[in-house]
Amino acid sequence: MMPAFPEIVVSLTIQCTFVLLLTRCLVRRAANSIAADRLWSCGHLMILLLSLAGVLLPHLRLFRSESLLSLCHQATMFPISQTFWTIVFWTWVSVASVLIVNLLRSLTQMSLTLRHATPVLIRQTATTRPDSVCADIGSTSFRESSTAELDTLNVRIVTADSCFTPFCWQLHQPVIVLPVSVTQFPDEELFAVVRHELAHLKLGHPMMLFLQRLVEIGFWFHPLVWRASKAASMQRELAADRTANGSSAEVAGFLRSLMRLSVPSFARPHILPVGLNLFARDVSMVQRRVDQLLSIDWSRPHCEKNSQSESETRGRTRLLAVASVMLTAIWIPLNSEATGRALFSPWPSSTATLLQEVGFSVRDYELDSHRVSEQFHAED
Ligand SMILES: [Zn+2]
Repeated sequence: MMPAFPEIVVSLTIQCTFVLLLTRCLVRRAANSIAADRLWSCGHLMILLLSLAGVLLPHLRLFRSESLLSLCHQATMFPISQTFWTIVFWTWVSVASVLIVNLLRSLTQMSLTLRHATPVLIRQTATTRPDSVCADIGSTSFRESSTAELDTLNVRIVTADSCFTPFCWQLHQPVIVLPVSVTQFPDEELFAVVRHELAHLKLGHPMMLFLQRLVEIGFWFHPLVWRASKAASMQRELAADRTANGSSAEVAGFLRSLMRLSVPSFARPHILPVGLNLFARDVSMVQRRVDQLLSIDWSRPHCEKNSQSESETRGRTRLLAVASVMLTAIWIPLNSEATGRALFSPWPSSTATLLQEVGFSVRDYELDSHRVSEQFHAED
């Protein structure tokens, strides 16, 4: 076991807890689901950055009194506590490895699904089908705007036999994957589904979900992380629904498509791709999505309100970022090799070696009494 492991895991868990609690507080005050979604994404990003900083950079040592250090060192130096931390270390490594394997398996399944997928010419489908002319006057404009966005974002639309629910995916080129049954939907409903997936892509949800999965791997033992993941998934769906629909006619089409897709499915839940999330077996999520769509007054222009909430969200993400920088100061001195002689810890050996390679020499050792006395002898 690495001697710094107890210090890293305890300190990062405390930092992660503060970020999640602050994010939750800010999300409760968010103006709408789009703002809430962005705040959760920012929270996950901050946790990953704090983790990287904790593992790769030196940290502040604010708690440096000798009595406190000796007390904290006892928590890791006794044989029984060393055995405890060794068990904790290997348990963490084992579970994290299983989660990483699951993530890689999901990536592989996804690339196989896409390899055998069939492209869909959705624009032709929409314009040539006899029932494409509908009573809704907004349908033509939303169809045109959706196809323009598909072109702008260079989105590929495909169907796959193994696909049970619509979802989107982005590594290089963004892809929307539809079950074959969805391509047979009436145009308004087909476009409602496509618009929802397009909204996920526009909001950067595939990347946000990937970051969330990384946080879950690093902090799998933390109950707040899983609660945050559930809340973030909910806000992603609400934000996509809100972005995808611009009128009550579009909402009606979307709700009809939801009902058509709301059939029992025995498909395994996806680990990575964000989708329509209808098969989450979470009735409250579907209920909240319907409630949100029905509670919005679509006849009112939303531009002014959106710009106000946009500036509020920017302010809140900045607050979250500043708070995260301050949280780097919380570092519990549980490293038995640490001393209180310097304000900063040594550089971790991996980063120090890398910097050495590019010509920067940094301190990667503790300023302990032994080295100091050696230095005095050398000077004599
Ligand atoms: Zn979705």
